[in-house]
Amino acid sequence: MTSVSRDCQLLAYAAVAFVLVACAGRPARQGRGETVFLDELAVRPTAKRSAVAGPFSASRTVALAKPCQLVDVRTVVPGISMDLRYGTAANVTGRPLYPAGMPCLLHRDTAAKLQNAQSMLRSQGYGLRIWDGYRPPEVQQALYQAGAATRMFLSPENAGWSRHCGGIAVDATLVDAEGREQRMPTAFDAGLHHASSTYRGGDPVIARNLQILHQAMKQAGFEPAAAEWWHFDDGDYVRNPQPVVFGHELGIPSP
Ligand SMILES: [Zn+2]
Repeated sequence: MTSVSRDCQLLAYAAVAFVLVACAGRPARQGRGETVFLDELAVRPTAKRSAVAGPFSASRTVALAKPCQLVDVRTVVPGISMDLRYGTAANVTGRPLYPAGMPCLLHRDTAAKLQNAQSMLRSQGYGLRIWDGYRPPEVQQALYQAGAATRMFLSPENAGWSRHCGGIAVDATLVDAEGREQRMPTAFDAGLHHASSTYRGGDPVIARNLQILHQAMKQAGFEPAAAEWWHFDDGDYVRNPQPVVFGHELGIPSP
């Protein structure tokens, strides 16, 4: 190795260390006296992978995701209920942001925790319905552009990318054994009003449903977001940021 290339390598290591330390040290965002979001702190990838062209194919995306530690949730948690809402028009943009057949991807460790939560809920006659998992940064940008006023989607430029963009966060609700959604404080992405993980309404059924969901997720190793009852971060990565993976690296078209 020449001294020039050795110097380049040392510089690269120093840059990576700086990015990791800087991001790990970023405090949780505060707003109006409360923690608004735990939903940031994924970091940009240090090595840029190139864009993958051609029509979308779910199996190709799953194959491309594997080296990024992202796995198809259905292979880890067979039979889990899925309703990827950003694949439908039922989101703040009013149009589908995912291609038809978009697989739900998560970091393999996060998917394993989800499998544990699902097992615990199954033993009680319940199960999970997944509303979102890995979310391409391109989709996060579209959600921010359309939904910034809701305060549910913060500026990637100012606040950093969502942990969804690293595949270490999941949005989920509770279903019964027949797959019927159980009553919860609010609908998905219905704004932050009444969406707190600390339920203050007076409906004992909703309070119980929320407690069942959160208890299983916490026991499995997730940390619920304070401001969104449906959002859960993988507890092992909350202070251990993972690289974001861009959709174009996985052959997922931009919305
Ligand atoms: Zn979320």
